[in-house]
Amino acid sequence: MGSTKYVFVTGGVTSSLGKGIISASLGRLLKARGYRVTIQKLDPYINVDPGTLNPYEHGECYVTDDGAETDLDLGHYERFLDIQTSQANNVTTGRIYQSVINKERRGDYLGKTVQVIPHITDEIKRRITLLGKRGEYDIIITEIGGTVGDIESLPYIEAVRQLRWDLGVENTVFIHLTLVPYLSASRELKTKPTQHSVKVLLENGIQPDVLVLRAEHELDKDLRKKVALFCNVELEAVIQSIDVSTIYEVPLLMQNEGLDVMVLKKLNMEAKDSPDLKEWKKFVDRLKSSNKEIRIALVGKYVELYDSYKSIIESLTHAGAINKVKVKVIFIHSEMLSADNVSEKLKEYHGILVAPGFGDRGIDGKIASVTYARENKVPFLGICLGLQCAVIEFARNVLGYEDAHSTEMSNYTKHPVIDLMEEQKGVTEKGGTMRLGGYACSLKKGSKVQEAYQTDLVRERHRHRYEFNNDFLDAYEEHGMISTGINPESGLVEIMEQEGHPWFVGTQFHPEYRSTALNPHPLFIAFIKATIDNSQ
Ligand code: GLN
Repeated sequence: MGSTKYVFVTGGVTSSLGKGIISASLGRLLKARGYRVTIQKLDPYINVDPGTLNPYEHGECYVTDDGAETDLDLGHYERFLDIQTSQANNVTTGRIYQSVINKERRGDYLGKTVQVIPHITDEIKRRITLLGKRGEYDIIITEIGGTVGDIESLPYIEAVRQLRWDLGVENTVFIHLTLVPYLSASRELKTKPTQHSVKVLLENGIQPDVLVLRAEHELDKDLRKKVALFCNVELEAVIQSIDVSTIYEVPLLMQNEGLDVMVLKKLNMEAKDSPDLKEWKKFVDRLKSSNKEIRIALVGKYVELYDSYKSIIESLTHAGAINKVKVKVIFIHSEMLSADNVSEKLKEYHGILVAPGFGDRGIDGKIASVTYARENKVPFLGICLGLQCAVIEFARNVLGYEDAHSTEMSNYTKHPVIDLMEEQKGVTEKGGTMRLGGYACSLKKGSKVQEAYQTDLVRERHRHRYEFNNDFLDAYEEHGMISTGINPESGLVEIMEQEGHPWFVGTQFHPEYRSTALNPHPLFIAFIKATIDNSQ
């Protein structure tokens, strides 16, 4: 027995040190020891959720099965731990303030001045402990976004400082992730930024228990001793996290460094035997040993930021490993593509993936790449807007509806082959109002997708407002573009595939949100298989 234990992960010195990967790796190690683990992320921005953010801001928006639009780190948690996260796993400052202000208007605090402390911090504490109340978890890892010292992180730091005493010191552990930079001029690793960052935490009342130091070079014993001494932590609690070729190696590195054992020790929990990482190691070995390379063109318009298509890239990586090939994903800016240059630009790729997206910027380039994939029989996967582009392309070039379009881009087309969903027509607010989360999809017997999934009914996640216009379905099917997946309740087209093409599939849902390291997604596996055939 015993209550749920909490691990808090903070970051210092700079952002982008990989708190999400460290949290996910620790989660994997604890899970591999038989503990029931989940991870949550606290984000200090004022958007209620990242659904209203452009991918350029913070990377992709990750969608959970329960329809929450969340931070991309939740994708790492699911991919590393093979768990499902939910709305409760991601909290933003916007959401915290929204509930406090709603309570204030309701009169819950009548007569009182509503303040950051205690009202905001109490709401943060309530949200953090919500998952623990379910009794489903032994350990909850809580990643605090941002960098300590930032103004916007302060209420979170204060909340977790208090929680240490509310929950009991033996039930909480603080991990602080920092950077140990290497100065090439003096050929030295520098610990001062770490010392300063720990000082900031101390000023806020938190003594970290474990330090994870990101570094490009090995940290020797003397350096670790110095950090331990100046930061008041045990020598064994100074953990190095060195750069590796794949993020999936990080759990193995953290195991070597004893991160899981140290965390369990601080939580007064048993470090039973050693974690069972057989499957994980097999996956990493495959990932690293595959040497045949498959090149995929990812056609999208947010290509300047690598994180914009995070889950798609990871899904391709998972599917590559199981197919024993290395998948090289090359981003192609859809605005750079046109009917004139597309064959030149796409000729070296074994497969083409047209990405999700919104609005009409770059749409012609996406449609041109569909034409190329269709005519040249290059394996094709279109996701969400990618499917919609495939539908538009077919209408224009095969069915002869020259003005065919989605009403998202053109309200006046006579052939609205993609149209706003009925349920969306009255929607005026932008936040959290799309068709979101998991819905059923029944698959057509004998189709490519049914062959890939090896089942008749699946559940996949969504994020869209527009859909295939069923008024045109007969015309499509007569000409060889078949609806092979539909939502059994509404009849909404979820999947289209083309007959007479080696592998041409478009999905209205986002398969990439469900692929994990140990359970690669069937559609990505099948897509990669088709690209391997195409490469031969
Ligand atoms: N913009 C399209 C829609 O809303 C596609 C969305 C997407 O690709 N996620 O339906």
